[in-house]
Amino acid sequence: MDSDKQRLVEAARCGLKWLEIQAKRKGASQRKHKILDKVCTAIINSDGTVSSFIAKEIYDSEKDHDSGSQANKIFSEFGDILESWAESFNEVAIDNGFKFYLTGKVSKPETVRVLEIDALEVDSTATVAKDKIPKGHIRYSIWERKALPRWQQRLLHRDMGLGTNFLLTTLFLVAPTAIVLFTVYFALGVIYQPSVWLISVFIGLLWTEFLFLKWLNEIWHLYDRKIMILPMILTPPEQPPTALVMRRVKDKRWPVIHAIATSADCLFCDGTVYLREDTHSRYRVIGACNRHPTEHRFTFDHTNNLGRALED
Ligand SMILES: [Zn+2]
Repeated sequence: MDSDKQRLVEAARCGLKWLEIQAKRKGASQRKHKILDKVCTAIINSDGTVSSFIAKEIYDSEKDHDSGSQANKIFSEFGDILESWAESFNEVAIDNGFKFYLTGKVSKPETVRVLEIDALEVDSTATVAKDKIPKGHIRYSIWERKALPRWQQRLLHRDMGLGTNFLLTTLFLVAPTAIVLFTVYFALGVIYQPSVWLISVFIGLLWTEFLFLKWLNEIWHLYDRKIMILPMILTPPEQPPTALVMRRVKDKRWPVIHAIATSADCLFCDGTVYLREDTHSRYRVIGACNRHPTEHRFTFDHTNNLGRALED
């Protein structure tokens, strides 16, 4: 076996180990995991000679072969999916002594999409190994790390030029103004034609506006705080609480905003630590244990994925 194939096989082994760990988590056995399983198994069985795949080889059922099927959609996004798992693969590789993990991209030639798999070298500076976690600290495991779509990144960067500022002005000035006008219009209705229905709608509207403005305010401050919790309503149901983190990435001109889903094992009990917004000091993102959220609390440092126990 030449070294390229060896790297690929090692990366595929790391993928299977990763799946084994994921299987213990809630919401595991997803379609994406099944694709990964097939890909890793095929690579290992072929001693690394097979490294590109088409959807037909991955799916068994005829139904999944339809070009518009959900399965095909997932296949077409599989490069991005692997990318969103990169940090998690890296962690599993470091803990289990693998030097490579899987990456890939889906190319779209004239007729069929091809998934090309490759091996990436582990970055030992990105994650602290399990046995090297400093005393009194927890290590957060990244479940998924996705860069936001480009237009959303633009909206949240305030130093990206005229177009961005124009968009921001629209969002932060025009939208609230329109909402206020709409409320006044409804308030007039409530005054001149009072009815239980109208008053209920009016109160509901006020509440929605309050939440919306509060959210806009938090987004505005992401720029200087670099971190915020993604509202529950925008978090996929199978995912733990998710943070938006703005940070510099090598070779990128602007900071990138990542949505990071993460959890850690509690230091004090067998509970799991999830992210949340600290209710004592607003906007601070901390980790709290699901068994005792008010006492087992930790910081969350997104620069090294470590957290230390909070005393207060
Ligand atoms: Zn705990």
